[in-house]
Amino acid sequence: MSGKSPTNSGVGAGRRQEPHPPSSTQTSSAATSFTNGSGSEILSEIEPEGLSGHALSRYYAKFAAAPGQDPFSERRIIRARLLHTLRQVSTVDRCKSCGWTPLGLAVVLKVGTTGDRKTAGFGGLERCGRIWLCPECAAKIRLRRGEEVAEGISRHLDNDGGALFWTVAIPHEQGDALKAVFTTLTELIRLVASGRPFQRDKKALGILGNIKAIEVTHGRNGWHPHAHILVVTERVLTWEQWTTFARNLDYRVAAALKKLGWNTGRAGIRSTVIPVDKGEGLAAYITKVQEKGLGNELARADLKSGRRGGRTPFEILADFSETGLVDDLELWWEYEKATAGRSAIRWSKGLRALLLPDTAEQSDDEIAAEEQGGEAAAYITMPAWRRIRRDPEVRLACEFAAAEEGWEGLLRVLIRYRISAQGIYTPEEWAVPDEVELEPG
Ligand SMILES: [Zn+2]
Repeated sequence: MSGKSPTNSGVGAGRRQEPHPPSSTQTSSAATSFTNGSGSEILSEIEPEGLSGHALSRYYAKFAAAPGQDPFSERRIIRARLLHTLRQVSTVDRCKSCGWTPLGLAVVLKVGTTGDRKTAGFGGLERCGRIWLCPECAAKIRLRRGEEVAEGISRHLDNDGGALFWTVAIPHEQGDALKAVFTTLTELIRLVASGRPFQRDKKALGILGNIKAIEVTHGRNGWHPHAHILVVTERVLTWEQWTTFARNLDYRVAAALKKLGWNTGRAGIRSTVIPVDKGEGLAAYITKVQEKGLGNELARADLKSGRRGGRTPFEILADFSETGLVDDLELWWEYEKATAGRSAIRWSKGLRALLLPDTAEQSDDEIAAEEQGGEAAAYITMPAWRRIRRDPEVRLACEFAAAEEGWEGLLRVLIRYRISAQGIYTPEEWAVPDEVELEPG
């Protein structure tokens, strides 16, 4: 599946812009979504490559699509190949059956439109909904979560509310196990945001809650988990309030690190706070959720590439797929274990209801289970599906061709790849019970 969710209805309903795929030509770093002067420097220190198109990570280059392929298709190909690799190596059973195992007697190929683009996709398949692990589910879930954040915050700012973007990272050293650094990060945030001094700040600054997103990369110094936290305040803070709060947070982060027996790191790196301003840009950023902007910065770790030569987990998986290096596979397995049961993006209690009172919250599983909308072009029974699914290239070729030419497009691809059309039915044939021969799965 693509990162788009054509059938979505819930949260997207209030969006200001039709969904569209992230453009590969975007150049502006997410840093520019913050109007504070020093903000962009700080942020570029944290995410030097932002979400820019050419930073779409090395794995995009490695898993490159055919020349001339548009960026939307390109991303789908990369995700499909990466998921194919994941199925072969994952320790998580649900990831192995994601986009692979039919839920019923047949897989359905549906053709519809998404925005102004014709799209097609296989449906009736299990979906894992693992935001940390699955390239296809992660894209879908993160896209939606990004939209939610953008929508909620944009409404809040329109009502003269305020928000700060707090990034916190723990100093790490080579050899630190991911599980340990993860736990330390969680504990650190808990310590910093729960003490009496924080409660004082909370009251004085009118802090309503926060949205927390955890990310992880792996580089020369080992695992590097960090958190992006949107701190939502009743009103826009004054410069003085913001700088004092930022200083206090940094001080508390250092104190908490010490308490946790960790190296306290450096000021300006371990914790940064940038005000989110409604001024120039923000409205534009927020409406262009899919391309750049706050929602993306917070939710779309899957689009980023690692910092300072570091790698995102998907890049590690892609590297393994290319080189077969056992070290990379072990890193991936460690990542699978360490992320189990952890939430990647979370709104603090009550905040979502406050900012998005009219939209119901969907679980990751629900979002991942959403499928291509539109008309059925073909029904594919198990033996035929086995022939199609085993090669991600064939599978995507079927989808791309069906988007353009429906049933005929599908047949053309099957002929090109010398795949028998036996067990594949038109919707008309499928509707007549005698026409369909169901072979045992
Ligand atoms: Zn999945």
